[in-house]
Amino acid sequence: MPHKLAELIHDKTVIFDGGLGSMLIAAGLPVGTGPEAWNLDRPDAVAEVHRQYFAAGSHVVHSNSFGASPVKLAEHGIADRAAEINRRAAEIACSVRPEGRLVAGDIGPTGKMLQPFGDLDPAAAEDAFRRQADALLSGGADLISIETMFSLDEALLALRAAKSLGEVFVVVSLTYNRNPRGFFTMMGDGVSKAAQAFEGAGADAIGSNCGLGSADMVELAAAMRAGTRLPLLIQPNAGQPVVEGGCTVYRQTPAEFASDALRIKTAGADMLGGCCGTTPEFIQALARAVR
Ligand SMILES: [Zn+2]
Repeated sequence: MPHKLAELIHDKTVIFDGGLGSMLIAAGLPVGTGPEAWNLDRPDAVAEVHRQYFAAGSHVVHSNSFGASPVKLAEHGIADRAAEINRRAAEIACSVRPEGRLVAGDIGPTGKMLQPFGDLDPAAAEDAFRRQADALLSGGADLISIETMFSLDEALLALRAAKSLGEVFVVVSLTYNRNPRGFFTMMGDGVSKAAQAFEGAGADAIGSNCGLGSADMVELAAAMRAGTRLPLLIQPNAGQPVVEGGCTVYRQTPAEFASDALRIKTAGADMLGGCCGTTPEFIQALARAVR
């Protein structure tokens, strides 16, 4: 039987959610605190953000577990609570999931560099990703979304870890920068190399998020579409950030974001959402434009 997300993709342009951490900060999460701690302390506030995205038109929302890799939680001294934090992240999102909508168990980067560039052992990283994915699925996540990865190698470890758990739909998204030769990750991997590697490792969908604003994502989506037949998920930031008074702010309006998103869809994206600087208003504008 096809996965529920595959059925949605077949029927329509699938809408994901927008920024989560920034919404929690707006709800009172102290800046500098890992948002994942609120899965235990303020589940009501986390659920409220998910509820707003579903109400805005998201077919899929990400669980509050971006920074909940056991490797990353170890920095805060709470690696031993990784299973609980991830399971709760999925349970909270599922508690407000309307009929027919989905929860993506969110996996972000460890924040460490793999050997030989850094000291992260690949086997340890893969084991940590496996435990995170397992806890997200046990909390009810309908799929796994690996995102904001700037290292193809680390993304592949997370993909293999999730796929090792059995029949699970996995979408994996890299963050690209733009240079005169095209789009490359921070580690120098290009679009077609990444697509081939992800297909070879069994990805169900591939994508890109963060790094670029919606205008640059139009061209990136076209380049990605040319390199794969897998479904594509594109989640741009709300334009390019500007620094004002020491704060990073995004100046794009929801209408501008939605109009670029339509061009991203035309360029070949099957699924659209937002990253940094996007809110439920952006997702609502996006959902309306796509309809
Ligand atoms: Zn972002």
